[in-house]
Parts: sequence; structure tokens; C-alpha cells
Amino acid sequence: MSKYEQVRTLKLTKARLPHSCDGCGRKIEKGSQYYRESLGLLAKPPGLQLRCYCQDCSKRINANGT
Ligand SMILES: [Zn+2]
Repeated sequence: MSKYEQVRTLKLTKARLPHSCDGCGRKIEKGSQYYRESLGLLAKPPGLQLRCYCQDCSKRINANGT
């Protein structure tokens, strides 16, 4: 597990642009709330993809402890 995996958290964010959920592919409309991966205080390294999840997927992910 990398240090980035350890600090990865999901942050509730308001969509400024439309996104699609990386868990289920559902469309996240502009202005709606979704969960975005955050690395806390760490700077994002090049090549690391921060994923976006809808509210349903964020619950599933938190339940799995990942
Ligand atoms: Zn989803």
C-alpha cells in the first residue's frame, strides 16, 4: 500500500463541472454533490488519478473500508 492509499479520503464536493462516477458510471450533474478523492495535505503526484464517486458509491466504498 502506498502512502497515497493511506491518506486517501473522500470529500463531499459540489460539482462545478459535470462528472461521471468512477464506481458505477452514473452521471454527476453540475451543481450536485459528489464525493471526490482527496490526499489531504499531500500534493497529488503526476499520474495519480483522483476518482469521483456518487453518494451511493461513496457509502459502498466506506463500508468496504477502502
Ligand atoms: Zn456511483
